Amino acid sequence: MKTIRIKVTDARDIRSVLQALDRGQLSPDITREARRLLPSLAEPRAAPQKPSIASVEHHEDVRGRQDAALRAETARVRERCVQRALRFGWVGELCGRPLPRNPDEAQMCHLDGGSGKRRQQQSVRNCLMEHHECHQGPLGFDKKPLAWLPDVKRWAARHDYLVPERFRKLEALRGAEEVR
Ligand SMILES: [Zn+2]
Repeated sequence: MKTIRIKVTDARDIRSVLQALDRGQLSPDITREARRLLPSLAEPRAAPQKPSIASVEHHEDVRGRQDAALRAETARVRERCVQRALRFGWVGELCGRPLPRNPDEAQMCHLDGGSGKRRQQQSVRNCLMEHHECHQGPLGFDKKPLAWLPDVKRWAARHDYLVPERFRKLEALRGAEEVR
């Protein structure tokens, strides 16, 4: 994570603007402008450096750096998901219910899961902010994906994303069953 130093007074100004925005105290013009600017605050920084594989002896070291790159990547994706959810009122991106006030307490969930493809799945097109319950609860989309298909499709359409593979497959299966 990159650290940026800002003056305390500037930090207070930024915070008071965000709080006013949050409370809906600003004029519609300023609110619109702030919403337009907010995503650019979360623009991804330069891509993490690929580890150079010097020798087998350095394997563990390389692994460590790969993990760090993956963590950095996750943090960037998460930040962009948080900003996207904030633009739409900070509600669960599928269920529409309010998310915890503190963004750190909200969960970033992957729609397509599984192992071996972590990199491809770390994408704003596959990740969203949701409640733990909506993700992994007994009625959550991990256990009952078909029940969430309309919400996933609505979310993908809203952001002009492709419906993640797992849900596309489900829909194809369901279509085949209806034809029979
Ligand atoms: Zn939810």
